Amino acid sequence: MNGLVLPAPPPATVPVHGTSARFPVRRIFCVGRNYADHAREMGHDPDREPPFFFAKPADALLTDGADLPYPPATRDLHFEGELVVALGAGGADLSPQAASDLIWGYAAGNDMTRRDLQAEAKRMGRPWDMAKGFDGAAICGAIRPAASTGPLDRGKLSLSVDGEIRQRACLSQMIWAVPDIIAHLSRLVRVAPGDLIYTGTPAGVGAVNCGQVMTVTIEGLDPVTTRVA
Ligand code: MN
Repeated sequence: MNGLVLPAPPPATVPVHGTSARFPVRRIFCVGRNYADHAREMGHDPDREPPFFFAKPADALLTDGADLPYPPATRDLHFEGELVVALGAGGADLSPQAASDLIWGYAAGNDMTRRDLQAEAKRMGRPWDMAKGFDGAAICGAIRPAASTGPLDRGKLSLSVDGEIRQRACLSQMIWAVPDIIAHLSRLVRVAPGDLIYTGTPAGVGAVNCGQVMTVTIEGLDPVTTRVA
């Protein structure tokens, strides 16, 4: 067993578009309130905040169109359709230009949230981990290499529930663009190959229940569809 006292956990991975190869995931970072209309719907002033980050454990990933079991301890499970950026290289204290050179690819994602637990955490001044980091909370579609997409900074993003559009935005509406997000993050931690970054959600977040089907669609990427089981 190579000196390990337990079997090493299998690495978290995400499918790569058009191949059977998979992208190995190291860490999952997420940006809060990166679209002005969503910041406002959550009761904040989008003009006064630098980007802030939270994290999900890598094994919260849900990929390959798997069902999401309705999680415990909530009665208000929310979807958040988001662009996900996958890093192929690392670095610290980066300029936005240097940061954009780290991008390996992009995917459509869904930052699932136990909104009632998040509201309680905000009220009590407690961490968001249990609101954002439960099993299956990091939904991610197949990654498309940036070499084939170019920079994804102006396509349309939408999220539907049972075929009805609930979120609709343009990636150009992000308050902090992708290179700025990575540059800011690299001043807080040394970013590394395998890191995923969820780049924030537009307005229209809402609850889903058992049996409902969510699809996140981003122009130029594979859509990701998840049924709540
Ligand atoms: Mn989010």
